[in-house]
Amino acid sequence: MSTAPSDVLNPMDSFWHDDLATADPEIAEAIGKELKRQQDKIELIASENIASKAVLEATGSVFTNKYAEGYPGKRYYGGCDYADVVETLAIERAKQLFGCNFANVQPNSGSQMNQAVFLALLEPGDTFMGLDLNSGGHLTHGSPVNMSGKWFNPVSYGVRQDDEMIDMDAVAATAREHKPKLIICGGTAYSRQWDFAAFRKIAGEVGAILLCDMSHISGLVAGGAHPSPFPHCDIVTSTTHKSLRGPRSGIILWNDEKYTKPLNMAVFPGLQGGPLMHVIAAKAVAFREALRPEFKTYAHRIVENARALAASLEENGLRICSGGTDNHSMLVDLTAKDVTGKDAEKGLDRAWLTCNKNGIPFDTRSPFVTSGIRLGTPAGTTRGFGPSEFRKIGALIAEVVDGLSTNGPEGNGQVEERVRGKVAELCSSYPVYPDA
Ligand SMILES: *Cc1c(COP(=O)(O)O)cnc(C)c1O
Repeated sequence: MSTAPSDVLNPMDSFWHDDLATADPEIAEAIGKELKRQQDKIELIASENIASKAVLEATGSVFTNKYAEGYPGKRYYGGCDYADVVETLAIERAKQLFGCNFANVQPNSGSQMNQAVFLALLEPGDTFMGLDLNSGGHLTHGSPVNMSGKWFNPVSYGVRQDDEMIDMDAVAATAREHKPKLIICGGTAYSRQWDFAAFRKIAGEVGAILLCDMSHISGLVAGGAHPSPFPHCDIVTSTTHKSLRGPRSGIILWNDEKYTKPLNMAVFPGLQGGPLMHVIAAKAVAFREALRPEFKTYAHRIVENARALAASLEENGLRICSGGTDNHSMLVDLTAKDVTGKDAEKGLDRAWLTCNKNGIPFDTRSPFVTSGIRLGTPAGTTRGFGPSEFRKIGALIAEVVDGLSTNGPEGNGQVEERVRGKVAELCSSYPVYPDA
């Protein structure tokens, strides 16, 4: 029995060609509002950015239709000619961008890229070392609620209490005591430069594999605004959607051929099935953007802006953990203001400044409340803010926090309204997608 074209949703039907607003008004409306939110508020979440139109276009491309299990030239499906083109370009560009010999561009996310490294190199129960979550480490570096902490044996290192910087003597002592199979450097809320050479020395001494998870700083590394983890680290993982400004995803990079088979096998078929070819296409686009000379300027501008923001916050009476920043991010300690991170996040959001509450080193409050906020400059730098705009933003943040300090969680409504006005002025001068 044949089915009439009108009974199935297919290209014969007019609604196949409807735009999203017609086909699904509810979702279209939410997307439109999200665009407006990104336009009208200042994005200070350190792990977010604003991807280019070309990156968005590749992410929304017809590669979303394609199954391409396997790797270029060795696929389990037919019709992979153009998938091979795209993935090969992504690999070659990633290698060129970060100066390494091998790349796997298939991990669907940052968490999965790290899971792949664990699957490739460790056995369940093996000991590894990572930065303590309370000192700015990531969930996938040994949190008790994450697979890394449940199935493996994490030992952590932290920052010193007096200057809130990573204590390399303690890293060495912990490594000697526990003899981890893997040492991870890199984190999500650490604003100082990483001393990769010092980690290499310690890893070499105890015979550990050295992994750098450069997710937060990979845009700075790509643009020469932070030292590269190569050649010191054996394996380097990174998300592609933070300072690197690509689509939401992950990559794994390495130099020694001995890791090629275990890492590739761990990503597919170890953890994943069909790779997200549309996202891999978008990664290739983002790597090409990051190879342009303008990206170096962008990366250095992120750091310059972070220093301006930190200085302005300090001038306006707020304490920056570790006394400043070398990268794109900072932790603001609100203890002296008697304001929680939770209340600050909400108050700032009412004033159209978007950030996240974050534990500070040796925080006495729970992760749901916290004593700090984390701020970052990659997204603001993308839309065009420079140091003078970030100095203004620092003053606005301090005004909102002072309102919370005086009035409690409700904050100062008049101050928040005035700040909203200033935010609106800044945002209208620097549109995120000018022709959207
Ligand atoms: C963001 C981040 C991840 C995880 O990335 P997801 O894509 O959110 O899974 C892993 N490691 C570090 C250091 C990160 O900052």
